[in-house]
Parts: sequence; structure tokens; C-alpha cells
Amino acid sequence: MNILHVSIECYPIAKVGGLADVVGALPKYQKSLGYNPSVIIPFHQNQFTRDAELTKIHKGSIQLGEVSHLYSLYKLISPDLGFTVYMIHVPRLLDRSKVYGHSDDTERFITFQLAVLDWINIPENMPDIVHCHDHHTGLIPFMMTYTTTYTNLQLTPSVFTIHNAQYQGQLSFNKLYYIPSFDRKKIGMLDWDHRINPLAAGIKSAWKVTTVSPNYMKELQVNANGLESLLRNEGKKCVGILNGIDTETWNPETDPMLVKNYKLSTLVSGRKANKKWLCDNFDLSIEKPLFAFIGRLVTEKGADLLADILEESLSNTGINILILGSGNQEIEEKLKSLRERFIDRYHVHIGYDEQLSHMIYAGADFLLMPSRVEPCGLNQMYALRYGTIPIVRRTGGLKDTVIDIGDGGFGICHDQTMVWDVCYSIKRAIALYQDQVAYKKLQRRIMKIDHSWHRSAQEYIDLYNSLIQPK
Ligand code: ADP
Repeated sequence: MNILHVSIECYPIAKVGGLADVVGALPKYQKSLGYNPSVIIPFHQNQFTRDAELTKIHKGSIQLGEVSHLYSLYKLISPDLGFTVYMIHVPRLLDRSKVYGHSDDTERFITFQLAVLDWINIPENMPDIVHCHDHHTGLIPFMMTYTTTYTNLQLTPSVFTIHNAQYQGQLSFNKLYYIPSFDRKKIGMLDWDHRINPLAAGIKSAWKVTTVSPNYMKELQVNANGLESLLRNEGKKCVGILNGIDTETWNPETDPMLVKNYKLSTLVSGRKANKKWLCDNFDLSIEKPLFAFIGRLVTEKGADLLADILEESLSNTGINILILGSGNQEIEEKLKSLRERFIDRYHVHIGYDEQLSHMIYAGADFLLMPSRVEPCGLNQMYALRYGTIPIVRRTGGLKDTVIDIGDGGFGICHDQTMVWDVCYSIKRAIALYQDQVAYKKLQRRIMKIDHSWHRSAQEYIDLYNSLIQPK
């Protein structure tokens, strides 16, 4: 079975968040199950694409309204990521260093989708399954089925995965002419609230829709940024499949980004060396428990609460806090301004730093995730794998993956997104940390939990198989 994953991000080529991690790992596991997955992404301009060995395998052109774009399709030769990678190069439009946040993102994403379709519409390039990820690729299932240009693809099954329903990529119907001619009776398939909504179009047009955790699927039926009723109506073709993690990349025994590698038997010394590096570099004290946060500094992640959580906890308890992230400028400024007051117990690193994130998973004692919305969340699974205890709000995938220690589980959970709740959880964590025997026993236990992709990769294969007609 040839599976084509269509995405904007793919680790390690271009990563902004969890989407990259999923698209960079799931195909690897699908390959290990004996299938033939490949990934197609835009040709981003970055260090990876500058260093990589690529070969041009196809040239074509697409029409975005009145503008024609020439595109080239490259295949990644090395490094070998464990699956085939294709990149679509469109000069000056797709080859940018920043993945998102351009004023012409709508044009960029539609051009990318048109080039993907142009290429796979050629019979020898046609996959058995087209698996689209998030709104940037949400028009593909519609265009495969209803346009008169890509008729070869009408019978090819499409799967659409919602990684985050907060972002829907809406555009005005003034731009309808970007979409090649289609059966006008089907215009409603593009529409949500009088706008073209690529996320809604993906949900309506794909043969199957998945989300990244079973609990998020349930939550979306009551809160999906306006798409609740659509998800309820389409419920029969929707399924929640829990994300996994790439246990090869995320392995404390071999992770090249750590100061000291460790395994179960060397957990104490290994983690101590990594914690020492963090404390030395960020002026923190190694004696105190270290609480960390990694992620986008946005309200969705509960990052707006961090400043108050910090003030309350640092004033009343003996802990260290380290934050890594970027996002909302107001939140960033507030977090930076607190640094002076708690100079030897708190540090915030504004920015994106892959290596530092690995060091934090390996050296912090607890990871804070006070999320309001968390479709799956990967951080808690990385934390568990590295022996860091997660403190999470029970929402989305966090509810599916973390069980409270009070219920025989291995994390610390709270139900509300309130400063008080998080601070109370921090107090529970401190009590746990003070009993070093129980704390280390718990660390050993969490490192053994299997959150790899093995089971979920098979669930996706079963889903694809349910769509493919026997030949
Ligand atoms: P998101 O909603 O942002 O996609 P996920 O939990 O699904 O959240 O995935 C987040 C991924 O991005 C994890 O691999 C996490 O370690 C990484 N990450 C987030 N922010 C940063 C940052 N500032 N620096 C390094 N890695 C980060």
C-alpha cells in the first residue's frame, strides 16, 4: 500500500510544533509494518534543505487563479529519514525560512496543494491513500473528488487528520477562483459561516476524519471553534487515534542532544548531570525541585497563567522554574519582567530551541502543562519517557495519557485552568519530591511506559484498509 502524507511540517526538516513530530514519526512506524509511506511537504528554505542531498524528479506548472506557478518536485536522498520525502519547490512563494505567519499564507498553502494534486494526478504517481494533515491541506480531499482537473483521483481514498481545530485557514469567497473548476452544486462543501473554510472542507470531503486523541474527538463535538455541529453531523466517519512518540529520536539512552545519556539503571546520575547543566546555565539551584514549561506561549496552552503561577509558587515554596517558549508578546514580556524578582530561582528562555527542549525533558523534575486545549500533547509523553513527572490539566489527549498518582497512576492532574489549581498541583509535586524513595520509584515506572507509535500506526493502517476496495 502506497500512502502519501501531505503536510506543511515534518521533523526534522521543518518543525513548529507537534504536527512535525507526528508526520516525521508515523510514516517510519508504518514502514516498519511493511507498508510504503511517503511524505510531501513544501521545500522550506532552512539549514536542513541547504545541507540535504536532493534530486529533482519532476517539473510542472499550476494555475492559481490568473497566476501560473512553475514548480519542481525534489526527492530527499540523504539523510535517510526512514521513509520517502518529496518537497515542492515554488520559487519566492514556498521557499521561505518561516513556516507560517506570511501575509500570503493562503496563496502559499493553496499553491502547495495544487502542485501536490498536479503531480499525483499522473497515474504512475498516484498513491493508494492520500492522508492530509490540518487545514493547510484540507482542500485536497474536496479537489480530488469534485474538480474536473483531478478526475484520476476521484476514487482514491482520502483521510484528513485534525491536529488542531483552533486553526481553520478561512478565506473569503472572493478567492474562490483559486480553486480549479468544480461541480457548482458542491459549493456548500467549501462553506462554513459564509467563508471558504479549509478545515471544514476537509472534514466534509475526506473519506475518513481522524483527530489525534480519542478524548479530543469527543471534546470537538461540543467545542471546536465553531465547527461543533459539523463534527457531530460527520461523527460516523470520525475517529480519535492517539498520537505516539518516536522512541528512537526520543530515547534518553542515545539522544545526542543530552549532556549525559542515561537509562533505567543510570537514571539518577544521568538526570543529575543534565539538571546540573540546566541549573548552571540558567542560574538555578540544583538542590531545589525544578519545574519546567515548554511550548507556545498562547492562551490555548494556559501560558497566560504562568506569570501568576510563578509569583504565587516562587513566593511561597522553595522551587525553581524554567520556561522555554515563544508566542504572544504580552505573555513573553510579563514572563521576562518577573526574572529580576526571582533571579536565582527562575529563568525564561524566549525562542525555539530543540536541544534545550531535550535537555529540559532530561533534567527537570516536573513538567507543567496547564493547557486549556490540548488535542493530544506530545510533551507529556516525552517527559514520561525521560523520567520527568507531568503536571497536567485533564483535557484532550492529556486526559488519555496521564493518570493521577492518587488514582494509582503516574502524573499529577487537575481539572480547571486556574492559577490556584496549578499551584495546588505544584504543592502535591513538592510533597512527592520530598519522599525521594517514592519519587525515584515513580520515575523508573514512567520511563517504562510504552507510548511509541506501534499500536496507533496499525490503527491508521486498519483505517486505510477499510477504505481500499479489494482489487
Ligand atoms: P503543539 O500544539 O505546539 O503542536 P504538541 O505538544 O503537540 O504542541 O507539540 C509540541 C512540540 O514542539 C514538542 O516536540 C515540543 O518539545 C516542541 N516545542 C514547543 N515549543 C518549543 C520551543 N520553544 N523550543 C523547542 N521545542 C518546542
